[in-house]
Parts: sequence; structure tokens; C-alpha cells
Amino acid sequence: MKFDNQMTLVIDARTKNESLARTCIAAFCIEANPSLSELNDVKTAVSEAVTNSIVHGYEGNVEGKITIAAGMIKNEVYISIIDNGKGIENIEEAKKPFFTSKPEQERSGMGFTVMETFMDTLLVKPNDNGKGLVVQMKKKFGGE
Ligand code: ATP
Ligand code: MG
Repeated sequence: MKFDNQMTLVIDARTKNESLARTCIAAFCIEANPSLSELNDVKTAVSEAVTNSIVHGYEGNVEGKITIAAGMIKNEVYISIIDNGKGIENIEEAKKPFFTSKPEQERSGMGFTVMETFMDTLLVKPNDNGKGLVVQMKKKFGGE
């Protein structure tokens, strides 16, 4: 796809980088004039995906890397969150509301549901290199 603008951010799998990812994606989206609510939707969705990579993908290995890639075409933003962590065996099951593999950590199993609700599209697939996860999302700003 031919984007008007692109960015790639690679971060350590550290909890403090969740807010870095939120801030960077918000700054990237600004040129498309999103409403405050649209911007919050994107920030929250990215935050959920990055948190998942940190908590489930790398499980505390802070040397793990998370790539956040974004592309803008007109008023549409395409975002990928990629990790090389342990990946998901059954993606369909993991995407269901309230499914969590870490109930003992008081996770609610709503991360993917939040991403699906706040963004226009959500695609979850294994990383091409066979290890880890790719989460792709799209959102169009400006109503429809
Ligand atoms: P919550 O997001 O509400 O705190 P959660 O993280 O368990 O809870 P989801 O974000 O919906 O819920 O994720 C569902 C499940 O998918 C997780 O419990 C985990 O097993 C798996 N998962 C999600 N993202 C990844 C990832 N990047 N790598 C490995 N497993 C993942
Ligand atoms: Mg989650």
C-alpha cells in the first residue's frame, strides 16, 4: 500500500513503554485531524496490544522487542503491533470476550474485544517468522 506517511517504533517490552507507544501513535495520527474520541480509541487499542506483547508475549523478558508500525493514507490509519514472543496457539479462542490465560493476574480477557470495538478492523495472526504475534488494525477518522 502506498502511504502518505509512515512510522516505525521499536520498544523494549517494559511496562513504562505502554505510555510511550500511546503518545507516539497519537502524535502520528494528529495530522489526520481525529476527534478526541477517535484519538482515544486508537491510543487505547494500541495500549491493549502493546500490553499483551509485554505481559503474554514476553512474560517479563524486558529485552523482548515490540514493533509498532503505522501508515496513514488520507484519513485512514493502519497500525501493526508485532512481537517475537511466545505467540498464541488458538487465536480464535483468545479473541473471545473474557478469554484470558492469566486469570490469576486479574486480567479480564477483554483486550482483543476492546481493540475490535474501538477500531474498524482487527486481524490477529502468527508472526511470519513463526514466533510471536502480529496484530493489525485500521481506523478511518471523520465519522464513517
Ligand atoms: P486484559 O487484556 O483484559 O487485561 P487479557 O490480556 O488476558 O486480559 P486479551 O487482551 O483479550 O485478554 O488477550 C486474550 C489472551 O490472548 C491472553 O490471555 C493471552 O493468552 C493471549 N495473547 C494476547 N496477546 C498475546 C501476545 N502478544 N502474545 C501471546 N499471547 C497473547
Ligand atoms: Mg490484554
